[in-house]
Amino acid sequence: MEIKKVVVIGSGTMGSGIAAQLCNANIPVTLLDLTNEISEKARERIKKSRPPLLIDKSKINNINVGNINDNFNLVKEADWIVEAVVERIDIKHSIYEKIFKERKSGSIVSSNTSSIPISVLSEKLSIEDKKDFCITHFFNPVRYMDLLEIVKNENSDLTKINLLKKFCENNLGKGAIICGDTPGFLGNRVGVFAMQVAMTEAFKMKLSIEEADAIFGRPMGIPKTGVFGLYDLIGIDLMADVLKSFIKELPEKDDFQEVAKEIPLVKKLIDSGYTGRKGKGGFYRMNKVDDKKILEAINLETGEYFTTKKIDIKSDKTNLNELIDRKDKYGDYAWSVISKIIKYSSSLIPSVTDKFNDIDEAMRLGFNWTRGPFEMLKEIGVKKFFEKIDNFENNKFLESLSKTKDENFYGERQKYTEIETLGKIKPKALILDKEDSANIYRFKDFNIVEFKTKANALDYNSMDCLKKATDKPLIIINESMQFSAGVNLTYAMNFADKGNFQSIEKFVKYFQETCKHLKYSKHPVVSAPSGLVLGGGFEVLSHSNFVASHTNIVIGLVETIVGLIPAGGGCKEMLWRWSQSEEAKNDPDFAPLKVFEIIGYGKTATSPVEAEPLKYLLPENKKVMSRNSLFSVSRKILDDNKNFTPPKEGKFKLSGDKVRKKMMNSLEKLYEEKKILEHGLEVGKELAYVLSGGNTDLNKELTEDDLFKLELNAFMKLFQTKKTQERIKHTLLTGKPLVN
Ligand code: NAD
Repeated sequence: MEIKKVVVIGSGTMGSGIAAQLCNANIPVTLLDLTNEISEKARERIKKSRPPLLIDKSKINNINVGNINDNFNLVKEADWIVEAVVERIDIKHSIYEKIFKERKSGSIVSSNTSSIPISVLSEKLSIEDKKDFCITHFFNPVRYMDLLEIVKNENSDLTKINLLKKFCENNLGKGAIICGDTPGFLGNRVGVFAMQVAMTEAFKMKLSIEEADAIFGRPMGIPKTGVFGLYDLIGIDLMADVLKSFIKELPEKDDFQEVAKEIPLVKKLIDSGYTGRKGKGGFYRMNKVDDKKILEAINLETGEYFTTKKIDIKSDKTNLNELIDRKDKYGDYAWSVISKIIKYSSSLIPSVTDKFNDIDEAMRLGFNWTRGPFEMLKEIGVKKFFEKIDNFENNKFLESLSKTKDENFYGERQKYTEIETLGKIKPKALILDKEDSANIYRFKDFNIVEFKTKANALDYNSMDCLKKATDKPLIIINESMQFSAGVNLTYAMNFADKGNFQSIEKFVKYFQETCKHLKYSKHPVVSAPSGLVLGGGFEVLSHSNFVASHTNIVIGLVETIVGLIPAGGGCKEMLWRWSQSEEAKNDPDFAPLKVFEIIGYGKTATSPVEAEPLKYLLPENKKVMSRNSLFSVSRKILDDNKNFTPPKEGKFKLSGDKVRKKMMNSLEKLYEEKKILEHGLEVGKELAYVLSGGNTDLNKELTEDDLFKLELNAFMKLFQTKKTQERIKHTLLTGKPLVN
């Protein structure tokens, strides 16, 4: 049996997300709802969604919409029918009755429920129908959240469950974990508990919401939205419903009950319409004071809003031990939260799952934690954990570990999948070099470089690791959310603030040298990006000989947005790519003008499919739906290229002044139309100088080094302007570019 056609019933948030991801995988899907109007609206929503649910707009053609009265016969053709209607058992039961009457024999039927046990969902099904029924619990937004929990019932056909699991892994790119029929399965059971602990401890220990979010965030390896930010994002009212369901489903003595109790301030927020970002605001809100937008945060004691305060905990790294050893309220809060999460998670072994490893992976995939509770325990150290913890009665896992005190209790990672992933390989590989910014691993006969700074921003160290690692075939890959958001601007600004521009120049030169080395060293280099691939991150990728790209990327040269131009070979590589096109053969100005437009506007693409027409990616670059497969696809590329020879260095013929005039004309037009201001004009001029080849004409040949020099000069000129520094500082402070 193969899954070739799918019907999704219910076209709300989840149904449309699942349908969109099926479209991305080129699986024809029919989306049914109560009326055509509802399902058509859902189709429109998918097209317009931000961040986009589709990897390319044309994928929408894989969706067919209809209603459950006139079009239910389409269920007959489906190999898999996904139910994603409202969370009401009566409605779900009546849908199943219809599905099982209509479906073709052997097709798989699944529900996306987040809280109804499979025993209840399937109570009215015959033993025969139960064989083909399971829960497939996707997370929102489906394209971007990697976790899929699959729950089987006592009669499920295991071959079929396995087939579905493989399909969801390979075609839909999900990390699929099989879970037992317990409330909240794995992800929400631990994830929501963790949020509740982080929240209730903040109340108890009198931390402000900014303080709590500053700790229960990046320092703990948790996304920077923290707990209160995440509450606002999910919806405070929705969270209240989730908690009610947990209170109802879980036994009275479960520790969840204690942290799920209603908090008066939260109730007050919901009652007054402060339901989070979708409402008037929540724990945080945007307020307008004197026509200026101000972000405010609620005071947990008084319920009043005040302008948010930036919390500097004086540590940018994720170092759990440093965090819990702190002798201040932040250290106390961190330990209290972490120890409670570890205690609770381990209390679920073996009744909820006998594989503790799966809980960690569910937290990575479903909540984007960099490590799960058991990895936290491993990092803290078993001995130290037991010295600090007070009691762990009735916790079989901890009782047993306290006896063995085995620091190596953890074993392998990612046991839920058969795919050879980076996570599985790392512990088996030799660490050749461990810098602050990147690690070099040696595995078999190749190297792996993993960046590890915040957003994987690049500095001298990162480039040094890349350069050193080219002594063997190399894969550049990592497990964090971003491939690289570009050069570390904080690092560069620190030099600029001291007037030390020589150091910036030295760094950029080294960046260029490294990129050239990646391209021309005698061993092949593969970049395997996922997430942000911006600026310098793109320059590393574009100088790699091969690319295996995840379908979820945001890629582009965005330097002009902060008043700079790409100077790590980004202008050069884009010129080279575009000069290989058919159009460029007849028109020497075609490539520079195209690249001028792309880099000038700082264009980005949100998938490999969108990246190709811009030539940020090339048709031969691999596009991979499953993030877990990036490593094995990269490894196969190395295997297939044992006889690799590096490319020949290209030469450039550019018309200099002639094409520059055309660029200046379009710049002046933009200036007259007030679409750019003076500084924009200046940045545009510098970019035009580089892309036109500087002082040259079509009779001269320019080398890559000539273009590197042009990039460097323009970059340094711009970096020394006040306006550019102002833009960079604003971006670093707010995370957003300065408008004009
Ligand atoms: P939603 O309210 O956004 O959408 C539900 C859709 O079902 C609506 O379009 C509604 O018109 C339709 N519907 C209602 N009765 C129907 C019927 N008889 N036949 C066909 N369609 C019908 O809900 P959602 O958030 O997409 O949730 C759907 C399911 O997924 C629920 O079981 C929910 O618990 C689960 N879930 C939700 C999330 C989430 O974050 N929203 C996450 C995981 C799981």
